[in-house]
Amino acid sequence: MKRKTISKKMQIAILNRDHWHCRYCLNPVFFGPTLKLLHKISPGHSYYHPNGKQGQMIRLFFYRWASVDHVVPFSKGGPDSMDNFVTACWECNMKLNDKEHNQGKPKLNEIPPELIDLNWDGFSSIYPTLPKAESGWLKQLEGIK
Ligand SMILES: [Zn+2]
Repeated sequence: MKRKTISKKMQIAILNRDHWHCRYCLNPVFFGPTLKLLHKISPGHSYYHPNGKQGQMIRLFFYRWASVDHVVPFSKGGPDSMDNFVTACWECNMKLNDKEHNQGKPKLNEIPPELIDLNWDGFSSIYPTLPKAESGWLKQLEGIK
């Protein structure tokens, strides 16, 4: 899997725009850095695994780990712009990487109003309240209620 690093600022902007739901399967996603800190606070409950190994994190967090996906792949000339990025859960992200990126790619969904109304935040608003929160993320999460 080759991809450029997307800035924290852009990742948060994309996840917020998509209301913390996967644009392919419409499942809610979780903010990885919060899961990492929860694991530090309370280790041994499979909130997180450093290698992200299947079977060593609970399925919910493993499959719904928030990621950001290029709609048009970078290798096919897709730009690193907000318009070309969507929120993807890790399960969909893995499916997309299994094959040629745009072969059998699932349909992109808009987030329906009833999901927006839930005001789900992927646990991102918890992040600043946790010990050892990283300043790089804190800076980007400021302003999230
Ligand atoms: Zn998904």
